[in-house]
Amino acid sequence: MSSLGADIREQFPILHQEVNGHPLVYLDSGASSQKPIAVIEAIKYYYEHDHANVHRGVHTLGSRATDAYEEARDKVAAFLNAKRREEIVFTRGTTTAINLVASSYARSVCGEGDEIVLTPMEHHSNLIPWQQVAKATGATLKYIPLQQDGTISLSDVEATVTDRTKIVAMTYVSNVLGVTNPIREVAAIAHRHGARMVVDGAQSTPHLKVDVQELDCDFYAFSGHKMCGPTGIGALYGKMELLEKMEPIEFGGEMIDRVDLFESTFKDPPERFEGGTPIIAGAVGLGAAIDFLNGIGMDRIRAHDAHLTQLAYEQLSEIEGLTIYGPRDRTGLVTFNMKDIHAHDVATVIDQEGIAIRAGHHCCQPLMKWLNVNATARASFYLYNTEDDVAKLVTALRNTERFFNSIG
Ligand code: PMP
Repeated sequence: MSSLGADIREQFPILHQEVNGHPLVYLDSGASSQKPIAVIEAIKYYYEHDHANVHRGVHTLGSRATDAYEEARDKVAAFLNAKRREEIVFTRGTTTAINLVASSYARSVCGEGDEIVLTPMEHHSNLIPWQQVAKATGATLKYIPLQQDGTISLSDVEATVTDRTKIVAMTYVSNVLGVTNPIREVAAIAHRHGARMVVDGAQSTPHLKVDVQELDCDFYAFSGHKMCGPTGIGALYGKMELLEKMEPIEFGGEMIDRVDLFESTFKDPPERFEGGTPIIAGAVGLGAAIDFLNGIGMDRIRAHDAHLTQLAYEQLSEIEGLTIYGPRDRTGLVTFNMKDIHAHDVATVIDQEGIAIRAGHHCCQPLMKWLNVNATARASFYLYNTEDDVAKLVTALRNTERFFNSIG
């Protein structure tokens, strides 16, 4: 049994409050994680001591801010095991990172009759950008079917990817089913057909040790706010030979090499994709979050989250009329519905006991259709959660079931 939760919890000020007269039980880290003191302090320190605009000032604060921003890039590169620091482009988060690949790389390589391969479990952020590429270029979207438990099979990947496929875009971990997809194997299949592998790492990066070289993916997108960092910052990893060929999609200050009245040239990656004043304090906060996670160890975090998730899976399975979606083997979350009780009602009722879970379509409407439901409830776990949090969730859900059955 892991002892992470209780010790770590001390470092998250927001968790020490009552909600609706009960101690807060925060089980919505899949939507956004909470922030440790180390991250809050790093952002405060930056604004109190080092802030100025980056890459322009010759003055001392300007170079301190630039150092802080670029150090954060080094930390992200090391965290993902990128070969080069220049392969890390700071973005607003996963959504912006995937849109950058879609609008720049994919539009330049896709044409009539080419294929973009996805799965039905994708978050809207890894689905709509590809629909837009397909509309603009005449490419076709194809879907790897889900098996009954919500996983994909490599033989279906083999059967779907062809020599016309230009992009395979897939989430590493599903934000609804908790499924962990075999990215390395899928990337190998994509590469055999000359296609590029784009990974949505929004739900994997907080929980798993990520190695982009080992996965051999071509692009990898993630958000800082789901891994103890601030909102408004994330990154795109891209292999250098691909980033070098990509056109910028935002134009303005800082991303240029030379500007004349009628023509301009652009800097090399990553600067050419970071037009305007970048998200400096956000990057500093993300760097602090990475230090914090590394200080604990991603292997320990993974083991802790897996333990709580399994515990929740087992205990929720025993509740009368409760259906869990997705396979037993899962990362970080349990998604479910209770018979005859709408997911929103479940979340609203247990919020009265201070327990925060998410309810809705989770930005996965096609997956909801596949599950044949309008909405689900989702409890998600992170390094500050404890077995006691799981126990409180289970008790609250049992009470909810009894309450609705008694009035029904
Ligand atoms: N993909 C997945 C799997 C997600 O869970 C999320 C966040 N819910 C996103 C993409 C989008 O992330 P962001 O809103 O931080 O851009």
